Amino acid sequence: MLDATTAEIKPREALRINPAKTCQPIGALYAALGINGCMPHSHGSQGCCSYHRSHLTRHFKEPVVATSSSFTEGASVFGGLANMTQALNNIFTIYNPRVVAVHTTCLSEVIGDDIPMMIRKATEEGIIPKGKVVIHANTPSFVGSHVTGFANMTTAMVRYLSENTGRRHAQLNVIPGFIDPSDMRELKRMIAAMGVKTILFPDTSGVLDLPQDGRYRMFPHGGTTVEELKSAGDSLATLALGHFTSHPAATELDEKCNVPCAFLELPIGLSQTDRLVHALRNYGGVDVPATIAEERGRLLDAMSDMHQYFHGKRVAVVGDPDHVISLVQFLTELDMKPAYIITGSPGQHFEQRVSEILRDQAPDAVVKQNSDLFALHQWIKNNPVDLIIGNTYCKHIARVENIPFMRFGFPQLDRMGHRYFPCVGYMGGLRLLEKMSDVLLDHKDRECPDELFELVQ
Ligand code: SF4
Repeated sequence: MLDATTAEIKPREALRINPAKTCQPIGALYAALGINGCMPHSHGSQGCCSYHRSHLTRHFKEPVVATSSSFTEGASVFGGLANMTQALNNIFTIYNPRVVAVHTTCLSEVIGDDIPMMIRKATEEGIIPKGKVVIHANTPSFVGSHVTGFANMTTAMVRYLSENTGRRHAQLNVIPGFIDPSDMRELKRMIAAMGVKTILFPDTSGVLDLPQDGRYRMFPHGGTTVEELKSAGDSLATLALGHFTSHPAATELDEKCNVPCAFLELPIGLSQTDRLVHALRNYGGVDVPATIAEERGRLLDAMSDMHQYFHGKRVAVVGDPDHVISLVQFLTELDMKPAYIITGSPGQHFEQRVSEILRDQAPDAVVKQNSDLFALHQWIKNNPVDLIIGNTYCKHIARVENIPFMRFGFPQLDRMGHRYFPCVGYMGGLRLLEKMSDVLLDHKDRECPDELFELVQ
């Protein structure tokens, strides 16, 4: 089908072809897995839940658990109260999680099921055992995207659990956004090296990146504990990494518990990581240790060593808005030329922020929110790029147009490095440089005439 994509662009408003996003519940499910001892619960039909689980499993290469209210025709007509009550009873009886995090699907949203009422009723009827918690987020897929779902569930953690006891604790909250467990692990490593006590939530490291030891654990050791989520309301400040995925929860925490927040962007690349380090230093009252300064220096060194291969290269970038905003910033620091920058998620902030970053360096770049891969392919056919950066779905365009392709963001269904190696922080920046230069130089080695085929680069 992609081979048949035409260069002729016709106006279209109400149609997306190969959208660069997926369902809200997928983000909510992923965020819920970042709570220790949590069972994500999908209030809708089994088909949605199966798709959401399998999509996440294909990205993380780990079994992703979730339960379902298993709607059939009856629930679709009369509402899902009976299904939810039965489901909560079964979940606590059979699996005994500490937390159940309920998200909705299109079907239960269209019916208009009142989830807080259902949770209240289950509590009154003694279905939710003492010491156990049920939280919820509304995640209709006909608005927003998986990014919105992640933000909604993270905000629900604050709304249901965080408390201001009146005693401030010498700790910071860090809300990392929709990043891989390897990224969360890297953030924690950097923060520990800085000597700052933090609560990271949600935290899927130790949940979706477990070592193989021959044992299956339904509730692994990782994840933010309920006690930590409660204590987040007593922290000195919150560092929220990402406008779309983290700022809503940080705002909720400020309004509910008076915890001031610093609105940052994802620490991808040099200057965005600098901003995180600066914020940790300011809010945590610490100095930057030599180890972190050396990591920064190594990234800077690699950027200048490899500059000749990146300079002036036209790039197409596809992905989740928080990822793309920070990556585009990094590309400008490498003197690359972002040409087409799209996200499937809706939100005007994306276009404003990316255009602001590109104002001097690439003012003609096409920047679109709520866009799709078909549009991107048509633009590329009309004016090609040197590099495509995006999720696995971009491989079709890369193959058809014979353009170097670097996988980045969510989902990556056909590679495994994202599970283990971060893209955040200075070390993540080094990895991105390596991946980018590998695909660019591999392409050159494959395609260039003999006289330009070099052994040493
Ligand atoms: S019905 Fe809605 S929630 Fe379910 S898979 Fe489709 S878009 Fe996603």
